[in-house]
Amino acid sequence: MEATRRRPKHSSNSVSPDVTEEPAGQWGRAWEVDWFSLSGVILLLCTAPFQVFFFVMACDQYQCSVTQPLVELYSGEATLGSIWDKAPSFTWTAAQIYTAWVSLQVVLYMCVPDITHKFLPGYSGGVQDGARTPAGLINKYEINGLQSWLITHALWYANAKYFHWFSPTIIFDNWIPLLWCTNILGYSVSTFAFIKAYLFPTNAEDCKFTGNVFYNYMMGIEFNPRIGKWFDFKLFFNGRPGIVAWTLINLSYAAKQQELYGYVTNSMILVNVLQGIYVLDFFWNEAWYLKTIDICHDHFGWYLGWGDCVWLPFLYTLQGLYLVYNPVQLSTAHAAAVLLLGLTGYYIFRSANHQKDLFRRTDGKCSIWGKKPTFIECAYRSADGCLHHSKLMTSGFWGVARHLNYTGDLMGSLAYCVACGFGHIHPYFYIFYMTILLVHRCVRDEHRCRSKYGKDWKRYTDAVPYRLLPGIF
Ligand code: NDP
Repeated sequence: MEATRRRPKHSSNSVSPDVTEEPAGQWGRAWEVDWFSLSGVILLLCTAPFQVFFFVMACDQYQCSVTQPLVELYSGEATLGSIWDKAPSFTWTAAQIYTAWVSLQVVLYMCVPDITHKFLPGYSGGVQDGARTPAGLINKYEINGLQSWLITHALWYANAKYFHWFSPTIIFDNWIPLLWCTNILGYSVSTFAFIKAYLFPTNAEDCKFTGNVFYNYMMGIEFNPRIGKWFDFKLFFNGRPGIVAWTLINLSYAAKQQELYGYVTNSMILVNVLQGIYVLDFFWNEAWYLKTIDICHDHFGWYLGWGDCVWLPFLYTLQGLYLVYNPVQLSTAHAAAVLLLGLTGYYIFRSANHQKDLFRRTDGKCSIWGKKPTFIECAYRSADGCLHHSKLMTSGFWGVARHLNYTGDLMGSLAYCVACGFGHIHPYFYIFYMTILLVHRCVRDEHRCRSKYGKDWKRYTDAVPYRLLPGIF
């Protein structure tokens, strides 16, 4: 392992070996397994794959109506069996496509060291440090996601334009059979990570067992499972097979619209452009991503493993799927409003994330909105008992609300949905889901921060009282 134990001095998150000071809040995975969390875990494990199937099947069999299948089931016109029988099943063609896809991403991740950072000014790629884990390790990561995205899309373009090895509609044409394949990988990787945590964990000190098997399986035991020195499960599965595919899936939907109707609607172009910006932003900032909750605090289990393989590619792309079945052409005013909402949301999301990153990197020695940032000094203890010091910024977006980055993300998510018009509720699933995800994440994060920083966190929430919407929440 290329992980090092580091104790930097007098930086943000600096450490002091003085363990006799007044104890600050502990950190690590903070959630206790109460009956409420446990029932949520079991419910999700049992129903999530069917939720994904439902939304994809609703388009395949009911033109994306989510109420019609329920009405037909209620009236007896359809049965669960008849719906299931009509849905395409697993095919070996889909298995070959998916195997080729995942293999390509593994090769690009493992065998092609990043060179883009050498000629793209401002881009941080190549070998980068992650954040310190609860056990005090700092892992190294090869950041080459942008390069993988560029190569993959160049290959896609070259195929569509020159080689014609496969149709650009290939993803849409195999969509439900591919759902089977992604589930096979999602469950396999989650189960493997679960067993690995017991038998050969990468960093035993960073494992967390709650005593509940379902919770452990879902929320993960190992913090940063790896195979060998560089194959990091979290970085690979979070970014590569799912998020690289996101833009290709949307392109495949656009190609299908072209094939079916002879044109591509402005709504489809908007969805492709706005989601494309979000995906490119993710890869441009992949080094920053190493400092987000996914990498810094979540353990790797079904939630991340299956979620990245299945939930993300199928449910984050529902708008494009919907538009294949319902080709909405928006008025200029509607399209302009969607673009404005999407770009404003993106601006808030990116600027808020950038402000925090800059503040933490420079230990507060920077300019936020033209002024020196204000902050609250705080302290916490890591699992080894050492006392660390950190700062919580109260300037810029972080002085307006405690998670304005989530608010911007939600505005962008709403824009994707509104791009589909108001004909069906189907494409709006995304904004419902993102609201639940980000509000839950906010509560989860604040619970952790409260136990990490103790009374200092209270000083921060007194200074910045609202979470997502100033004056409301
Ligand atoms: P944040 O980037 O908001 O990070 C939260 C952490 O930042 C806290 O745990 C704390 O960490 C630190 N922090 C909190 N307040 C302050 C402050 N005032 N000053 C300095 N540091 C502070 O959360 P995420 O990692 O969840 O999100 C990253 C981005 O990814 C967000 O924009 C989110 O919208 C997006 N996202 C998108 C998802 C999607 O599916 N589309 C899913 C999840 C996230 P510490 O312990 O270091 O103090």
